[in-house]
Amino acid sequence: MGDNLEFYIGGEWTAPADPSRTLDVVNPATEQVCGKVAAGSAADVDRAVAAARGAFGSWSRTSAADRTEVLRNVQEAYQKRSGDLAAALTEEMGAPASLAGGFQVGLGAGHLAKAIEILQDFAFEERRGATLVVKEPIGVCALITPWNWPLNQIAVKVFPALATGCTMVLKPSEIAPSAGRIFAEILDAAGVPAGVFNLVQGDGPGVGAALSSHPGVDMVSFTGSVRAGVEVARNAAPGVKRVTQELGGKSPNIVLDDAAFAANVASGVTTMMGNSGQTCSALSRMLVPRSRMDEAAAVAREAVAGVSVGDPAGDVVMGPVASRAQFDKVQALIRKGIEEGATLVAGGTGRPDGLPTGFYVRPTVFADVTNDMTIAREEIFGPVLTIIGYDDVDHAVEIANDTEYGLAGNVAGADLDAARAVARRIRAGWVSINDGFDFGCPFGGYKKSGNGREWGEFGFHDYLETKGVLGYEPEQAAG
Ligand code: NAD
Repeated sequence: MGDNLEFYIGGEWTAPADPSRTLDVVNPATEQVCGKVAAGSAADVDRAVAAARGAFGSWSRTSAADRTEVLRNVQEAYQKRSGDLAAALTEEMGAPASLAGGFQVGLGAGHLAKAIEILQDFAFEERRGATLVVKEPIGVCALITPWNWPLNQIAVKVFPALATGCTMVLKPSEIAPSAGRIFAEILDAAGVPAGVFNLVQGDGPGVGAALSSHPGVDMVSFTGSVRAGVEVARNAAPGVKRVTQELGGKSPNIVLDDAAFAANVASGVTTMMGNSGQTCSALSRMLVPRSRMDEAAAVAREAVAGVSVGDPAGDVVMGPVASRAQFDKVQALIRKGIEEGATLVAGGTGRPDGLPTGFYVRPTVFADVTNDMTIAREEIFGPVLTIIGYDDVDHAVEIANDTEYGLAGNVAGADLDAARAVARRIRAGWVSINDGFDFGCPFGGYKKSGNGREWGEFGFHDYLETKGVLGYEPEQAAG
């Protein structure tokens, strides 16, 4: 997708303060440099924050109807660039064409449509007795996003920030920067007023830290690792900024005894391998009745055989992982699983046959895993599924919650009431039943998986302050 050597600040494409500092962007399928990204600095952040602050007064006073009109223009511009967005995801992070195009571009479009829908009747003002409760945009927002779902993560931050009347500075991941640039081009083409959306590229220490600590930033919305999320919160603390964090996960998929067992185990395997396992909400711990472990292992082995791995530009289920660092980390954790005595059902260390170049990992499944093993505790962020046995439903819930994370979960079962009851006991922010999906469902973490909620109406609240204005007449009781 070429180079990303300029920033979008105050409605203009502009050179960095120090244009000599650049980072290589590597295509994970070829291991070759496919572009360069400017490594911004505190001086660039200063300019972008000033532009966002300058635009806040007028943008924050626009009506929901005005912002709806702008978002509808964004919808049109987004549609026109969907091919470019998909191509960038494939080239820079190795997402297979079907996943990048149909799925991830579709997710972005879905979040945008949802934001527009919510904006139509969102209660920015509400009378509660003698008090008028007013929801006001929080101000200038710093949006810091990761590489693993580079477009989706931008979409779930930028659209609600725009919809609520905030202005913003986006720092995309330096590993997959082009989605951010194309996003800026889309917003520019759609006529988003100058300064409302600004883009500064670069790395965490150079740009992310400067944004998190900047006195002109009111709120930081961060998605990424726990390590960086903690640093962001620390840097934001002296300014008492609001910080929302979408961090890692080690999510359980409880397959109940009455579930369509083979179908659910098989779909659990293929879903886990999607995006090469680099999904924060990946259902990486599959919990099955202990008596059915062998059956689960056999189904999983067969399901893995159907996961094609190869050039993400082609028709494959799985491309490479995004970087050499990711490849090395996943290999080390697969080795650890073997050392710790889990049963290797499929895959293993090394590259898949016939793929000597590229950061390709073998889709891997471990059975007979116990929840104290490293592969059951650490977020692997690769195509590695662990299958853990449980004795009864209480035990399954206990294992599901025995993790420092709490991002997501799934319960598979035929008796929906029983499955729902189990889902209610999981300490996590998003729990599906039989793999349900909904753009209006709040998405975010308990415990070390984060703070705040994205998606749908819940994503709006993170960008709003709540003001109470007293002095209204108490409302008349009905009747
Ligand atoms: P990362 O934390 O290394 O980087 C994420 C972003 O933060 C990047 O833009 C990076 O440049 C920036 N960054 C790094 N250090 C920073 C610092 N000190 N201050 C400010 N910004 C900094 O994470 P990653 O490797 O890009 O992404 C993988 C991680 O993200 C995984 O742990 C995954 O679970 C998590 N993730 C979570 C969600 C979610 O919604 N919960 C979604 C996607 C990814």
